[in-house]
Amino acid sequence: MNLILMGLPGAGKGTQGKKLSQKYKMHYLSSGKIIRGVARHDNSIGTVIKRYINNGKLVPDEIVTRIIKDKIIKLKGVNKILDGFPRSKKQIQDLEKILSSIEEEINLIIYLKVKEEELIKRLTGRRICMVDGSIYHTKYDPPQKKGKCDKCGSNLYQREDDKRKVVEKKIMVNKKKLKKVKKYYQNKGILEIIDGNKKTEKVEQEIENII
Ligand code: AMP
Repeated sequence: MNLILMGLPGAGKGTQGKKLSQKYKMHYLSSGKIIRGVARHDNSIGTVIKRYINNGKLVPDEIVTRIIKDKIIKLKGVNKILDGFPRSKKQIQDLEKILSSIEEEINLIIYLKVKEEELIKRLTGRRICMVDGSIYHTKYDPPQKKGKCDKCGSNLYQREDDKRKVVEKKIMVNKKKLKKVKKYYQNKGILEIIDGNKKTEKVEQEIENII
């Protein structure tokens, strides 16, 4: 089964994706995580990508597809959850080509719908451990000691693209693109909308009911 988790930044795709991948033993593939990994490289492509991310922009389709393509192909025959890909009409076409080359298709899209004020709160409050990558939230899931990771005591930082200005831009840019992607899959009859404003466990339960 190939499942796509769709939604604006901060909708909870990562949180739900990881939970579902454990529960159903599916491989979880996050385009954002993969792209941020490439951006960490101190080379020309890394520098280019970092600029897009830190300005709240989407990385150009050709670059995204080039990075993601082989990872999907390698997972032929494996149940997959795709988080954050596709995010444009061109990426839909690219994904269809990639999947048909391994005789697969998309089976289900879960769209997590969350109010914009809530997305902003979730993203601007997110803090990450510099060492082990654990994720906290200043209000919803604060660490025991301010600014320090509960597990390893290291400093927490705020992602450059979680700063208020970038978050607002990111939401605006994604909203425009995702609208078309959502409509495309709705017309195909394989998209289910879930209220992502609810508590994590409730959202998880609703996704499971659909699966
Ligand atoms: P995310 O962690 O999903 O918020 O992704 C972080 C950043 O990576 C986004 O703001 C984009 O700049 C880039 N990105 C992730 N997935 C895509 C995609 N499918 N198309 C274009 N850019 C992407």
